[in-house]
Amino acid sequence: MHDVIIIGAGPAGLSTAFWCDELGLDTLVLEQSDRIGGQLHRVYNPIENYLGVKTRNGVEFLERFAGDIESAEFDLWTQTEITSVDLKAKRISLASGESLQSIAIVIASGVRPRELGVPGEKEFAGKGMIESGARDREQFAGHDVCVVGGGDAAVENALLLAEVCPTVTLVHRRKKLRARREFVERLQALHCITVFTESVLTRIMGDETVQAVEISRKAGIKPFQLAVRGVLIRIGVEPNTQLFGEQLETDEKGFITVSGTQETSVPMVFAVGDVSNPLAPTLSGAAGAGATAAKVIATRLNAGK
Ligand code: NDP
Repeated sequence: MHDVIIIGAGPAGLSTAFWCDELGLDTLVLEQSDRIGGQLHRVYNPIENYLGVKTRNGVEFLERFAGDIESAEFDLWTQTEITSVDLKAKRISLASGESLQSIAIVIASGVRPRELGVPGEKEFAGKGMIESGARDREQFAGHDVCVVGGGDAAVENALLLAEVCPTVTLVHRRKKLRARREFVERLQALHCITVFTESVLTRIMGDETVQAVEISRKAGIKPFQLAVRGVLIRIGVEPNTQLFGEQLETDEKGFITVSGTQETSVPMVFAVGDVSNPLAPTLSGAAGAGATAAKVIATRLNAGK
């Protein structure tokens, strides 16, 4: 029996574990992949908005707290596949056949990139699909590219690619971009970026690598093709909540609903980080949410002793 089991070893899960350890709780972290850090492995641009810490990318950020994690005394199991979770009973079953029990559960399972679901998206992975403007732009320097999405991530990537690509076409399904004003103003000032609003990318085409995309502007008007060598899709994220089914309350997009103490609709089950924070997913928020959950759990457990 553990005091706390944390599902996920990204920044939110690790912050929770660090604080639980500080507060003397018997803590186990379960991580399905073979490494800790979660989405930090997909951040290729500088992290400059975490108070007191500035790093060149996500992995460097992870290295900053790796020392604290190593010296802490919580248990961390990587490559651990969870097959089922009974949140009410606080029971977790693993693919290994093992069954775990705790007093509290903290869900820190994060999010995954949303897919567009068009022909060519999967087929051209690694063959013209751009994973990150910051990481891959040298590879696409001198080539025309297309970016899909209207949020901060799409526009930030379009700006990065515009530094090295002759043309960048941004395709967004609505009239207005959702990205922050600063990004949009920079975008509008660049002549090499064309923005197609109220448009959807319907197909990615090529032979060995991407050669063109098909863009549909208005219903009833024939889609047109645009020659590009790279396509980057940034259309938001989806919460990793498949394990929990209908056991707890979520919003309409599946993000877990929490109270101000990070507690979910199931008593002594908490959720931290992006899986419960669709409006303001930040590293600072993830770290803070972990600290809050740990302190609340410790207070409840101490009160019960
Ligand atoms: P967002 O959810 O903010 O934006 C997603 C965009 O994709 C929206 O414009 C949305 O359109 C569009 N979209 C969603 N689904 C589809 C679909 N099926 N087909 C076409 N378009 C679709 O996600 P982001 O990844 O941009 O950002 C996530 C969070 O990360 C935000 O909080 C953002 O501020 C943050 N971020 C911060 C950065 C920084 O600090 N430098 C950089 C990048 C991201 P619609 O507008 O119609 O809903």
